[in-house]
Amino acid sequence: MLSMKHISKSFATDNVVTHALRDINLDLGEGDFVSVTGPSGSGKTTFLNIAGLLESSTSGEYWLDGEDISKLDDKGRSRMRNQKIGFIFQSFNLIPDLNLFDNVDVPLRYRGFNASERKKRIEYHLDQVGLASRMKHLPSQLSGGQQQRVAIARALATSPRFLLADEPTGNLDSSMAQSVMSLLEDINANGTTILMVTHDNGLAARAKRQIFIKDGHAQELVQGQHHHNIHNLAAV
Ligand code: ADP
Repeated sequence: MLSMKHISKSFATDNVVTHALRDINLDLGEGDFVSVTGPSGSGKTTFLNIAGLLESSTSGEYWLDGEDISKLDDKGRSRMRNQKIGFIFQSFNLIPDLNLFDNVDVPLRYRGFNASERKKRIEYHLDQVGLASRMKHLPSQLSGGQQQRVAIARALATSPRFLLADEPTGNLDSSMAQSVMSLLEDINANGTTILMVTHDNGLAARAKRQIFIKDGHAQELVQGQHHHNIHNLAAV
């Protein structure tokens, strides 16, 4: 369903070229839950941005549901992104002036759903994340963990096939992080494919597959083995 072949990304700034990603090869199937870890500056965000169609690669092929994304222009990429991908971020990115109902409504309005369909989806997804009784509350009236739950409801409202999460628990204390992770596991069990960048090795280990990125190279950790037995994706 998602396949990256020899994906590389470099940035050129003031004659300095940074190789953020080097020859990434990755195949994701329906229902995968993949965590991505690695040191700061290793290329994790760049990887997620390319996977999420927020950025294009410098070279390589990226196939999503049978379409070669690397051949699309900005407009084509944003169309695919809106159709297929939901995002959550460390900073939640909720709109402070809008109540929970209206926050979840934002992507639904953008996609042009009618009012009754929007209401149905908003109520369903706020209930799914345990916040159905708080629909008229503002984000500032919620805990961090609850705000991330709203962001998850918003990301799922348009029924994306992929959920991309960039440090979703980075701003949360450990018990809230655990409960957001459990929610992501439930969502994955219901069929949504998840790609999650995290600094938390304990949470990363709960994913079905683990990718470790270092200096722009990605390696897949084989289940039940330790770091020194990593399987080099670039060598597949
Ligand atoms: P991580 O998320 O693992 O901290 P990033 O993907 O943010 O790593 O960055 C990988 C490398 O690419 C770093 O050296 C970073 O400085 C560089 N980089 C990322 N984005 C840009 C950009 N827009 N312009 C120039 N260099 C960038």
